[in-house]
Amino acid sequence: MVVAGVAARRPLTPPQPNRHVPLMSERPAFPVEAPAATTTIRLCGPRGFCAGVDRAIQIVVLALKKYGAPVYVRHEIVHNRYVVEGLEARGAVFVEELDEIPPEHAHCPVVFSAHGVPKSVPADAAARNLFYLDATCPLVSKVHKQAMRHQRLGRHVLLIGHAGHPEVIGTMGQLPEGTVTLVETEEDAATIALPPGAPLGFVTQTTLSVEDTAGVIRALRLRFPDIQAPAAESICYATTNRQDAVKQAAPGTDLFLVVGSPNSSNSRRLVEVAERAGAARAMLVQRSEDIPWGEVQPGWTIGLSAGASAPEIIVEEILEALRARFGARVELAVTAEETENFPVMRDLRDVALEAADMAFLNGGA
Ligand code: SF4
Repeated sequence: MVVAGVAARRPLTPPQPNRHVPLMSERPAFPVEAPAATTTIRLCGPRGFCAGVDRAIQIVVLALKKYGAPVYVRHEIVHNRYVVEGLEARGAVFVEELDEIPPEHAHCPVVFSAHGVPKSVPADAAARNLFYLDATCPLVSKVHKQAMRHQRLGRHVLLIGHAGHPEVIGTMGQLPEGTVTLVETEEDAATIALPPGAPLGFVTQTTLSVEDTAGVIRALRLRFPDIQAPAAESICYATTNRQDAVKQAAPGTDLFLVVGSPNSSNSRRLVEVAERAGAARAMLVQRSEDIPWGEVQPGWTIGLSAGASAPEIIVEEILEALRARFGARVELAVTAEETENFPVMRDLRDVALEAADMAFLNGGA
């Protein structure tokens, strides 16, 4: 159902739960009355930060507050340039590998990103005597446990996911070499070579297309009727909810904008979902200047969502830009309300997180 309404600012800071659905009761940030024939924006809810991303960013922010700069972060904490640059400005230093941390900074904390890491990474950190904070999303850790359970039960593990994605590297790195095989497509599922006669179990990356993954699982079950599923769905609630909202909002849109970075898996999936659901054109944008303004016509219907790693402040920037150019009648495409909230680790719970600490991403302070 598309609900006519107005967009509202939704600063996302504790102690509020992680709700990304604009509430009708909130004070409107945009005019309810719009001139005739103005552009219509279909604003998806939920959109933007999920509980795992919110937690990972909070871990870096709180570590900076507690221990001071620099705080090292292994890999982009979440796949979003704006987030990374905002944290760099506060004293975070991003590295790809632990050996990039200078020996004189070995006492500084290092945070592992939300995507998860192979087992070798905490082992390496311990060998180097580094103090690490693991910001792996609890739902990624759950997939690690599902994969390890398959392996414990003597099953060869099939991981459905995208080669090279850090989450896939992290999940494969939970298991001994040779006990896990990556499956990327239905074609892989139908043809990939596996150890003969081995019992099989599968898990998936958390941020895949729900429909594509169902196709891959169907193909696996056709070929291996006894393959075991994980105890619970591996694609996470945030991925499913954002895809559902886009599916609802996309039909009939002239343009569908997804705020997110090119290396963000869940954001790229939202673009694909919008195209399949009937958007005439869908694209990823990192900032308002990425919108092809010369091609956008007044009176168009424009869908707008944001990947799980994209901050609300950019959604607001785009809404403001559309309003400034065309006027804006905003409709809400709301399919779920999210209340998930993942607490940070005990080491950081004694540090207060103020709304102002997250205002560089959430706006509103
Ligand atoms: S997209 Fe899902 S798995 Fe990834 S950080 Fe968010 S909640 Fe966790």
